[in-house]
Amino acid sequence: MQGAVDLQLPWNNRFASLGEAFFAPLQPTPLPAPYWVGTSAAVARWAGWEGAHLQNPDLLQALSGNRPLAGSEPLASVYSGHQFGQWAGQLGDGRAILLGEVNGLEVQLKGAGRTPFSRMGDGRAVLRSSIREFLASEATHSLGIPTTRALCVTGSDAPVRRETLETAAVVTRLAPSFIRFGHFEHFCHHGMPDELKALADFVIDHHYPDCRRDPRWGGNPYVALLAAVTARTADMVAHWQSVGFCHGVMNTDNMSILGLTIDYGPFQFMDAYDPAHICNHSDNTGRYAFYKQPNVAYWNLFCLGQAMMPLIDEQDQAIAALETFKDLYPRALARRMAAKLGLAHPQDTRPQNDYEMAAPAPVIEGVLTLLAAGKVDFTIFWRQLSHWVRDGGDAGSRDAVRDLFLDRGGFDAWLLSYSELLAHIPRAQAADLMLKTNPKFVLRNHLGEQAIEAARQKDFRMVADLLRVLEAPFDEHPDCESWAGFAPDWAAQISISCSS
Ligand code: AMP
Ligand code: MG
Repeated sequence: MQGAVDLQLPWNNRFASLGEAFFAPLQPTPLPAPYWVGTSAAVARWAGWEGAHLQNPDLLQALSGNRPLAGSEPLASVYSGHQFGQWAGQLGDGRAILLGEVNGLEVQLKGAGRTPFSRMGDGRAVLRSSIREFLASEATHSLGIPTTRALCVTGSDAPVRRETLETAAVVTRLAPSFIRFGHFEHFCHHGMPDELKALADFVIDHHYPDCRRDPRWGGNPYVALLAAVTARTADMVAHWQSVGFCHGVMNTDNMSILGLTIDYGPFQFMDAYDPAHICNHSDNTGRYAFYKQPNVAYWNLFCLGQAMMPLIDEQDQAIAALETFKDLYPRALARRMAAKLGLAHPQDTRPQNDYEMAAPAPVIEGVLTLLAAGKVDFTIFWRQLSHWVRDGGDAGSRDAVRDLFLDRGGFDAWLLSYSELLAHIPRAQAADLMLKTNPKFVLRNHLGEQAIEAARQKDFRMVADLLRVLEAPFDEHPDCESWAGFAPDWAAQISISCSS
């Protein structure tokens, strides 16, 4: 291995300060002859890295595991978790290596080789799943949803065996922290109360300092932490539901302690609206079906609460903190749905109850029932409805929405009740909100698939073009109109599983 690459980055590796009960130090495994597959200048800017770094051949080597980055302290962290509802024991970073922290953001290489936690795995990620994670992270972020982010993907022709032979890639991803619910479960389950406390204190001090001053919960900062994670998780999942995002594998080791969308694997932005949709082909029982996501999040939060009990003692307090989900989640969803209907303003200073009054549940439920019955494309419907509002109720725009439904009578009745609500709000204001809330573009499976197919032939233009469009999903992008259209029939055949 050649010498370290020094980009003069201000490393401050706080996770490493926790000590070796939390991780195994190790170097990434080199990947032969790497090349850039996709890079995000926006993420480089956000992270305070020089944009020019993403043309630097030394960085290409470093992010592919071929040379160390000066100042980094690579490690794989240990965690446990519940997978598909069962206690799975110790897991850990089986193929992700944390390089350290720069400007408050941890830098992780996913697919960087085997670690002590790889179990049967090869420590690698394939080009297909890496492009999906790269594009999805940025698409999700641009929709305003909390998520880990992706700086770049580097690829190599090194073969990786999955169902078929594929090639290797590494995603460089960034987040203020990659700590998961499973980290807490690990130290509770293995009877390590000192480490559990050190972990909780680390998370509070660096990410939730207000928990030390929260007057609720009997002044217990750990209950306050549980309540804060509950609130962030409720908000994240409400946001997912409002854009038709299905995570696919909501195991507790894939739940971020910061309420970030994390570990993009068999996820899907739904095409036709189907609440029972299962995007992960390995999910035989439909545990992670779209409509179950809020309940699963709640279940996962209980696992976190259970793991924190040695710190909390007061079971009633912990349950009360967890139960805030039952109020927070529906309110967050109602706010999101009201905005989709143009009936609320995100910057509105009125008390939250007013949002709900502005979008009564029957109107929201009514439209979702119609969308499900007609298997209507979720993204296209909301965008067309936004156009109808923008165009002042014009008949042509109405027909464009109406034609999406088989049950035209049902739609007409719904539109009438919706119009009555809209009448109380200036049209332009409602239209403006809707066009900023209902994206024109989401990362549909078939678009990702086309970009992946081209990338396999070493044509990375569609990765770059899709990134550009998904970074501004509310803009029109007339040059990419077809990406806003219906999924082709073959999209239903795309099989996405846990194996990636
Ligand atoms: P996931 O559900 O993809 O987040 O992965 C669950 C666990 O399996 C985590 O501990 C991963 O690090 C590990 N894992 C997944 N794929 C691999 C792989 N190819 N090699 C080693 N570990 C893996
Ligand atoms: Mg995972």
